[in-house]
Amino acid sequence: MNKYAVTNPATGLSESSFPLATDAEVTDAIGAADRAHKELARGTSVAERAALMQRVADLHSERREHLAAVIVREMGKPLEQALGEVDFAADIYGYYATHGEAFLADEPIELLSGEGSAFIRNASLGVLLGVMPWNFPYYQVARFAGPNLVLGNTILLKHASQCPESAAAIEQIFTDAGFPQGAYRNLYASSAQIAEIIIPDPRVCGVSLTGSEGAGAAVAEVAGRNLKKVVLELGGSDPFIVLSTDNLEEAVDAAVDARLDNSGQSCNAAKRFIVIDGLFDAFVELFTEKMASNVPADPTSPETTLGPLSSVGAAEGLEEQLQRAETQGATVTLRGRRDGAFFSPTVLTGVSPQSDAYREEFFGPVAAIYRVQNEAEAVEVANDIPYGLGSYLFTTDPEQALRVADQIEAGMVFINGSLLDGAELPFGGVKRSGFGRELGRFGIAEFANKKLIRIL
Ligand code: NAP
Repeated sequence: MNKYAVTNPATGLSESSFPLATDAEVTDAIGAADRAHKELARGTSVAERAALMQRVADLHSERREHLAAVIVREMGKPLEQALGEVDFAADIYGYYATHGEAFLADEPIELLSGEGSAFIRNASLGVLLGVMPWNFPYYQVARFAGPNLVLGNTILLKHASQCPESAAAIEQIFTDAGFPQGAYRNLYASSAQIAEIIIPDPRVCGVSLTGSEGAGAAVAEVAGRNLKKVVLELGGSDPFIVLSTDNLEEAVDAAVDARLDNSGQSCNAAKRFIVIDGLFDAFVELFTEKMASNVPADPTSPETTLGPLSSVGAAEGLEEQLQRAETQGATVTLRGRRDGAFFSPTVLTGVSPQSDAYREEFFGPVAAIYRVQNEAEAVEVANDIPYGLGSYLFTTDPEQALRVADQIEAGMVFINGSLLDGAELPFGGVKRSGFGRELGRFGIAEFANKKLIRIL
């Protein structure tokens, strides 16, 4: 895409556009980030960087209304959810400001033999490239920039081309917080500049990409050729397994929340609902009723729970996927309609393992419900996809909960609840959902040089 412009998906209006960076600007930014790395890594302590990061957190809180309004326009996120995202980003920056020193403390090693001592010192690597998607413009950046700047790495950030205003607002916050010039640089870069200039530059030490499989593979290929470390947070089609419950209504509410948050455009949204035979009919009825009660509406209204999709193109793509699913035999239990970028909730049953819909990711308010006869079949269906990001499991049996959790091929398992993410909880997947972790203590370790120091 690489045309940095804002088109409000709710109104169709073009709001702003920005020129691509020139090659010279990209090269200058790499130089500035490299100088900033030397300044940060050699001239500041973790505590000093953590104090700057706390200021970043505070500035997100101070500017929350403005920041939220920007993403409502850029990608149609409902206002309350946009405010929630800004608050979550502030929490993440605050989390690394508070815990950075403890996470980065020297780690002593018990020697098996010999004299002296040994320990690991967590050192920075240098300049990192972040490539981020539009679906959570602040939160995605926070997961990457928060821990890495506390560690002492510096950041070149190529944000999605449809959210150039939030991208600029984030850069402004890092500048206003007092980070040295070049420590965090927003770049309206093209894919070609990433592949030909940024990743091959010897001063750039690693890349973190959140987005689609295609983008992940393209960036990882170039990074591999240049021997650069990569973290990939890619797509998912998370299972939501219901084996037993004391309260079907609560389980269904959690299911609908897990499917419709961010208007269905979350990588770790529950997308496939796998329900035990005895609960299946009641689940389908209640779930369909609650999905239908979420009517897409004006994202600027505080009451709106479901906004438009991020663009007309995204909604058209979803419509095409749905038509294909129906042609390939799925039953449409609740038929969503497209109106511009707006798309109302849709429920599918009877999706056959032979159809595309069985394995594809639906990036919008479309749910598929599967009937299973027992725990083993639930696990089999849950794992029968190329992805392995998150998963959800409802059961009243604690032993079954852990037994099933052990068998699910995913980076995350949430038991008896949804929308439980937190700054302290590591996030990431397996299989084609990518590799590496963000958030929690692992998020600050991905791009650390775990330097051994052995003293005799
Ligand atoms: P996308 O097209 O892959 O875009 C993501 C980012 O990658 C954008 O900045 C995009 O730039 C850039 N990009 C695309 N192709 C590139 C290339 N060849 N070289 C360099 N950069 C490239 O993703 P999307 O479709 O907008 O986002 C939705 C996908 O992201 C879904 O699959 C979703 O599940 C996944 N996702 C995963 C996570 C996670 O944490 N696992 C979180 C959120 C989203 P342009 O905008 O300029 O094209």
